[in-house]
Amino acid sequence: MEAATASFPFVGKSVEFKPKYEHFIGGEWVKPSNGEYFENISPINGQPFTQAARGTKADIELALDAAHKAFPSWSKTSAASRSNMLNKIAQVIEDNLEYLATIETIDNGKAIRECMAADLPLVIDHFRYFAGVIRADESTISEHDENTVSIALHEPLGVVGQIIPWNFPLLMATWKVAPALAAGNCIVVKPAEQTPTSIMCLMELIDGILPPGVLNVVTGFGPEAGKPLATSPRVAKVSFTGETTTGRLIMQYASENLVPVTMELGGKSPNVFMKSVGDADDEFFDKAVEGAVMFALNQGEVCTCPSRMLVHEDIYDKFMERVIARTKAIKMGNPLDPSTMMGAQASNDQYEKIMSYLNIGKEEGAQVLCGGAKFSQNSGLEEGYYVQPTIFKGHNKMRVFQEEIFGPVVAVTTFKTTEEAIEIANDTMYGLGAGLWTRDAHEIYQVPRAIQAGRVWINNYHAYPAHAPFGGYKKSGFGRENHKMMLDHYRQTKNMLISYDKKKL
Ligand code: NAD
Repeated sequence: MEAATASFPFVGKSVEFKPKYEHFIGGEWVKPSNGEYFENISPINGQPFTQAARGTKADIELALDAAHKAFPSWSKTSAASRSNMLNKIAQVIEDNLEYLATIETIDNGKAIRECMAADLPLVIDHFRYFAGVIRADESTISEHDENTVSIALHEPLGVVGQIIPWNFPLLMATWKVAPALAAGNCIVVKPAEQTPTSIMCLMELIDGILPPGVLNVVTGFGPEAGKPLATSPRVAKVSFTGETTTGRLIMQYASENLVPVTMELGGKSPNVFMKSVGDADDEFFDKAVEGAVMFALNQGEVCTCPSRMLVHEDIYDKFMERVIARTKAIKMGNPLDPSTMMGAQASNDQYEKIMSYLNIGKEEGAQVLCGGAKFSQNSGLEEGYYVQPTIFKGHNKMRVFQEEIFGPVVAVTTFKTTEEAIEIANDTMYGLGAGLWTRDAHEIYQVPRAIQAGRVWINNYHAYPAHAPFGGYKKSGFGRENHKMMLDHYRQTKNMLISYDKKKL
């Protein structure tokens, strides 16, 4: 296929894109059945840079055909050969890290320095982790009595559907793809319509490592391509990451077919700074300030964004002075510039949503401590989607404290006692992430136990090692990703109960 060249400032080299990306089905590039494509716009400058196939039910059916054809043979491959393939995928990604980070940045708008230092290394580590885990995995055998033995074997579920969001396109896909492959499933992936390109560039690179049909990718919009996948009676599981409202729909679809779902949904994560932070040495105090500013990581487009900051009233002035100064020092701009810390929001819709929340916060009386507006620059990127990192001060009943903004916006409030901090932290429908900063050993154990969230970072934030289970409480979802326990979300248990008794039933 003919290559188009898209040039972006600061890259220092041109990046080649195909003019159009087709679906990847059965190990081949397949044109959309209706012949339609949609424009992929880079949030860096608001301009289209390539097109993606606009998938529909017919394309999903083709992908399911390919996956079902591949499954009987793939499910019988040895753990060792699946592990080797996952390791090969990891190696190809490592060899092309800068290229993939560049594409991801152009596709999503995130800062390339984060892509290079976090997103892609995590992707690589994740494939390697599941390559290792599957080799060490064992079934169980138990003797019920002298003539009866029970063997519990793991078997893959079959063909699974995976629906991906736009905030970490490659990493969120990897969180689902690596364990599902390791467990022996075949897959149909539907990436987010805002960021369909980076995963297709990855598929080009790894083409040929897996047998045809094992991993299929169909691009397109939620209702047109996602829904036929999630409603299909031919999928054995639906794994979904996205908004809580969409998650509700996906569960309804899956319930019709009685198939399991994994839901990784939204959040409004509290980041709690206890009184002892104020008495800590300079090193820890600085670390805690960095932990507070984590709300701007990935332009705040992180499901676990620490979007509510709870600060003990005795340390509020000293702590917030530093947090505001540090937030104002965040270098914004073209995310392809390696010195940029905060890039563009992923889409115009997302930009508009965040801007509307800046107005909502002001209208409901929250005080703007810094930011609160569009980030303007005179570098030819005026059409890009840039928002200043913003700190609101208010109280936990405000909408900016309760609703997921999914942008570089944090709402800060104070508390007097540990009980009050816990009460505010839990006063949300979500329960995905939380942060706790303290020098008190008692609090280090007791406060996280009282916080209703699937992941509590204590004296750190935004670390995502492959071997730490990740997932939500409450309306943030269920099921887990990462960790070897993830394999059990992609397989079922076959029990073989064997009698060796010659006569007795
Ligand atoms: P979204 O729900 O709008 O879309 C997610 C995916 O679902 C996309 O691929 C979309 O095309 C698809 N989709 C939309 N409607 C569908 C339908 N009716 N049927 C089938 N598929 C459909 O979410 P988003 O805006 O892409 O992502 C942001 C959300 O994701 C935030 O709420 C964020 O908190 C959440 N998120 C959660 C985690 C986690 O691990 N818990 C991680 C990342 C993002």
